[in-house]
Amino acid sequence: MADRQETLGSFRGKLLEEAVVQEFAGNLRGELLRPEDDGYDTARAVFNGMIDRHPALIARCAGVADVIRGVDFARTHDLPLSVRGGGHSVAGNAVCDGGVMLDLSPMKGMRVDPVSQTAQAQAGLTLGEFDLETQQFGLATTLGVVSMTGIAGLTLGGGLGWLNGKYGLACDNLISADVVTADGRMLTASEEENEDLFWCIRGGSGNFGVVTSFEYRLHPVGPVLAGGLSYPLAEAHEVLRFYHAFASECPDELSTVASLGISPDGSPEVYVSVCYCGAIEEGERVLRPLRTFGSPMEDSIQPIAYRALQSAPDAEFPFGRQYYWKSGYLKYLSDEAIEVMVRFVREIPSPAARVSLQQMHGFASRVDPGATSFPHRDEHYDLVILSEWTDSTDTAKNIEWTRAFYDAMKPFSERGVYVNNLGEEGEDRVRAAYGRNYDRLAALKNKYDPTNLFRLNQNIKPIETSS
Ligand SMILES: Cc1cc2nc3c(=O)[nH]c(=O)nc-3n(C[C@H](O)[C@H](O)[C@H](O)COP(=O)(O)OP(=O)(O)OC[C@H]3O[C@@H](n4cnc5c(N)ncnc54)[C@H](O)[C@@H]3O)c2cc1C
Repeated sequence: MADRQETLGSFRGKLLEEAVVQEFAGNLRGELLRPEDDGYDTARAVFNGMIDRHPALIARCAGVADVIRGVDFARTHDLPLSVRGGGHSVAGNAVCDGGVMLDLSPMKGMRVDPVSQTAQAQAGLTLGEFDLETQQFGLATTLGVVSMTGIAGLTLGGGLGWLNGKYGLACDNLISADVVTADGRMLTASEEENEDLFWCIRGGSGNFGVVTSFEYRLHPVGPVLAGGLSYPLAEAHEVLRFYHAFASECPDELSTVASLGISPDGSPEVYVSVCYCGAIEEGERVLRPLRTFGSPMEDSIQPIAYRALQSAPDAEFPFGRQYYWKSGYLKYLSDEAIEVMVRFVREIPSPAARVSLQQMHGFASRVDPGATSFPHRDEHYDLVILSEWTDSTDTAKNIEWTRAFYDAMKPFSERGVYVNNLGEEGEDRVRAAYGRNYDRLAALKNKYDPTNLFRLNQNIKPIETSS
């Protein structure tokens, strides 16, 4: 008993009675894991192997009641609270040191209504699991491009994927959500109910409560015309100049990603990936200028099942590897910006490292920047400098390369940044992520989470009031 109290007490400088923990465990439908329990290390592991944190308690939530009890327990005992959806964020805030980790990954219930073309989805689902259900009915909504990502963190921060040009971001397709707020209430957030909370959770990340389930609008999707074209890095200037002109004019049905890195055969390359989600014949016509430009070393563009596209890059991002990312937005691909990218890719520190430019355009860019809390509503590329390595002796050189690359790209980058790409980068970058919507978000943080219970995230602090 004494050891147990010390274990818990050491996290917050105070003791939690064993009986209190037992009562909490007894009130949960899911498991409550402590450091000595089987499954604890698996449950605390997140995508980024750089993150090695030890919660005092992990509540493997089986349903909404467990989430409410977890929120109430952390608030009552003044413990740090982290929330895990898919555990895929590079920042790793899904897991905390000490305190309570609410693990929603067991919550995978989902119902697709093919008639109304909507889906009700619990917050523990990954994109791959979600797509499996919707594609059964030939439907989909915008999610990200790697199937292991969680729908929760992705949607709450915005959600940029292959369908953004045609159907907007993931958050633009949200109809409603169930949210457990800091006071332990469960609120429905939609255009009709708690409209301000609904606004907050479409871009404001995990700051306003624990979302237990999402209701999405779906669209008929697939098969899609998708794949990639690869070129030697030496042709980067010509290729990216053409690519930028092509992407700037492309129809909403087409979304693209350009990346620079090392090909599977070990040579530096430029890779242009595409997805056309409209009629295949029309897609063939739209893509012809891109496919006939220059002499690509590979052209894998073909009609494929949407789910095959969504899981295509999975193997490039193994769970548990070490990751370090820096990110920003680019509006243009100037010759100078291309030159910097080529220079850094020539000095790449590990074969899996790369820089990627994910296009946001069409529907996603035309939404009013104040209509949801996701503020970055213009045509741009989400620039992500991704380093990824296995041997921890390579950590310093990968981080150094990523930072130097990011600094060199600053003159060409916008001030904003996508909140879901941020690591621990300080207050200024957090403000840049929420942009023009920061002040309204901070005011609503006072309403929904005045004590900042939900602070292990890209945090919006409540506004201090003098009273
Ligand atoms: C390989 C890779 C590819 C990616 N590709 C894309 C992409 O194509 N498009 C894109 O938009 N993003 C992409 N991302 C970024 C991704 O959107 C974020 O990492 C997102 O946070 C992942 O969500 P998660 O639920 O898996 O993460 P988690 O690590 O579980 O959660 C991240 C944060 O979200 C909050 N959160 C999670 N669940 C909840 C909940 N139920 N209620 C309240 N708050 C919650 C918490 O603050 C938590 O710290 C990618 C990331 C990776 C690693």
